[in-house]
Amino acid sequence: MESIDWGSLPFGYFKTDYNVRCYFKEKQWGELEISDSEYVNLHIAATALHYGQEAFEGLKAFMGVDGKVRVFRINENAKRMRASAQGVMMQEVPDDIFCSAVIKAVQLNSKYIPPYGTGASLYIRPLLIGSGPQVGVKPAKEYLFMVFVGPVGPYFKEGFKPVAMQIVRDYDRAAPLGTGHIKVGGNYAASLRAGERAHDEGFSTAIFLDAKEKNFIDEAGPANFFGIRENKYITPLSASILPSITNKSLMTLAEDMGLVVEKRHLYVDELGSLEEVGACGTAAVISPIGKIVDRDTGKTFEYCPDGNAGPVSTALYNQLRAIQLGEVEDKYNWCTIIDTIETVAD
Ligand SMILES: *Cc1c(COP(=O)(O)O)cnc(C)c1O
Repeated sequence: MESIDWGSLPFGYFKTDYNVRCYFKEKQWGELEISDSEYVNLHIAATALHYGQEAFEGLKAFMGVDGKVRVFRINENAKRMRASAQGVMMQEVPDDIFCSAVIKAVQLNSKYIPPYGTGASLYIRPLLIGSGPQVGVKPAKEYLFMVFVGPVGPYFKEGFKPVAMQIVRDYDRAAPLGTGHIKVGGNYAASLRAGERAHDEGFSTAIFLDAKEKNFIDEAGPANFFGIRENKYITPLSASILPSITNKSLMTLAEDMGLVVEKRHLYVDELGSLEEVGACGTAAVISPIGKIVDRDTGKTFEYCPDGNAGPVSTALYNQLRAIQLGEVEDKYNWCTIIDTIETVAD
């Protein structure tokens, strides 16, 4: 294997040696299968291709300070994928199949787990698709569950620095009673135009408001949103937000640090009074936000006057990272330690 420059890896696809697959056919899940192909052979009428029967997950494995490999909150991802499957009428992947497929995919590619201290990690992508054919609008009878992994670099190559985001009103990522609360590809398709425009206009991502009133914040692109004010951690409550496992973890850590957690509507009008704001998700843990521009009104909210993330965001970020890396006690048992067996000889 060529040596990998772990510190400069992007967040992107990286070919590894194996992926794991499991098929649901004739009303039952089969055995886990190991594949060394990056391709799937799919029926031309598979419902994933036509009617969006598709859901995915994203989680990470870390090489710890003690040389042990930890996967963060795998059971939460298993549960969320079941919820996503229900939401678009796919066969649910049982938690034991989900977890063993994830663990197997990590073990088989253990040489791609970035070393401790590089800031890089092994990203894990579980994917469930309707693979059976339908032409009428109906759920498939066959499903394919897959897990692939790949090393990703440190999210913040220049350090934990604030980014700029843009509030948009001319696009919604999800309808109030739609699929915003589940992790399905359709939500991402719906967000692409606003996201790419935000990039072109110099922002890291678009902030979506609630689709009905356009008064309160829903999500910061593919991440949850939070604000800090007067010792409170405030994060939007809405039926069209994807329940981020990072956000859930940060809420627990915030309470541990003595903050009061509020889950409620967070109004655009309140942005000016927040002391710190950030976006959170598996990829970055926290993206501190230094500036928010309302695309329609031109109103600008600025944070981080010294150019650095605020103290609460920084403390939360450091604590979550330390748990993932085995540097501090994992008192909530969020990490699953994985035995890294020898990889299959190649
Ligand atoms: C995956 C995702 C998140 C982040 O969830 P994590 O479990 O923290 O990675 C936030 N918003 C959307 C829309 C997502 O798809």
